[in-house]
Amino acid sequence: MPYIGRFAPSPTGPLHAGSLVAALASYLDARAYHGQWLIRIEDIDEARTVPGSAEDIISSLHDFGMQPDGDILWQSKRKSRYEQAFEQLSSLAYPCGCSRKEIADSRISLASDGAAIYPGTCRHGLIPGRSPRAWRLRVPEPDRPEDVIDIQDRWQGVFRERLSASVGDFVLKRADGFWAYQLAVVVDDAEQGITDVVRGADLLESTARQVYLQQLLGYPMPRYLHVPVVTNARGEKLSKQTGAAALDRSRPLQVLMEAANALGLNISPAKNTLQAFWEAAVPAWARRFGINE
Ligand code: GLU
Repeated sequence: MPYIGRFAPSPTGPLHAGSLVAALASYLDARAYHGQWLIRIEDIDEARTVPGSAEDIISSLHDFGMQPDGDILWQSKRKSRYEQAFEQLSSLAYPCGCSRKEIADSRISLASDGAAIYPGTCRHGLIPGRSPRAWRLRVPEPDRPEDVIDIQDRWQGVFRERLSASVGDFVLKRADGFWAYQLAVVVDDAEQGITDVVRGADLLESTARQVYLQQLLGYPMPRYLHVPVVTNARGEKLSKQTGAAALDRSRPLQVLMEAANALGLNISPAKNTLQAFWEAAVPAWARRFGINE
C-alpha cells in the first residue's frame, strides 16, 4: 500500500522545539517508506488561531528542508465536509445544554486528557428550559465490545481505552459553533488517504475517539506512531501556553540535530549541511523502526 503521512499543526504560534519533533518524526517516517508527506493546517479553532502563524510554520518547515508532496489542506475551508460527516452520525448525536462548570462539578473522575468525563446528563433529552450548546456523540454502553478500542502504536505498544470510562459522550460540535478537533481530524485523515499518523504522545488519548469515529463513518484505520512529548525544565509539554520559544531559523542544522536527539536518533552527518543531515537521519529512522529502505 502506498504510504501517505502528514504533519497537522494548529496555527496558534510559531513552530517550537516540541512541534518540530512531531514534524520531523512524521517527515522521516514518510521518507523512510518512500511515501508522501502532507501538511494540513488545523485552523478549525478560529478562536485560537493566530493570524500569520500558519504561513510562519510552513516557511519554517521549508527552511528546515521539509517540503510537502501535495497541496496544503486548510481545515477552515472544509466546514461543509465536517457538516456532512456530522449528518452521517446524526442517529448517535444529541444536543447538550450543560455548561463546562456543571460537567466539572459532576464529580466523575477526569478523562485521560484532563477534561471532565461527561456524566451523560443530556443523553436522554435536554433538561427542560435549557437550550442546546454543544452536540455530543454517544459512546457505546460499558458492557459492549465496541466500547473497547485497542491501538497497536508503533512507538508506545498496545494502548487500550474504554470510551465510556475514559471520555464518555464527546463533543462533535462545540458550544461556540466550531467543529471539534476529533471530527475534523478523522474526516481529513480519511480524505487525504493518510495511511500513517505520526504525532506527539499527548494525542494518544484522542486516538480511541478517532478510531471510534472512523468505525462509525466507515473509514479505514491508519497506523499510529506517537512520539514522546518534549517537555521543559518544569516537566510541562512545550507549547505556546508554557512559553515555548520560536526556533532559531538561522541555525537550522543545530535545531534539527536537537530534534533528532529528542527522538533518540544518534546521528553524525558527514558534513555541516542540511542535505547531510537528511542523508543521515532518514536511514537512522528506518533502522530504528525496521523499515526496509
Ligand atoms: N493539530 C494538532 C496539534 O497541533 C495535531 C493533530 C494531529 O496530529 O492529529 O496538536
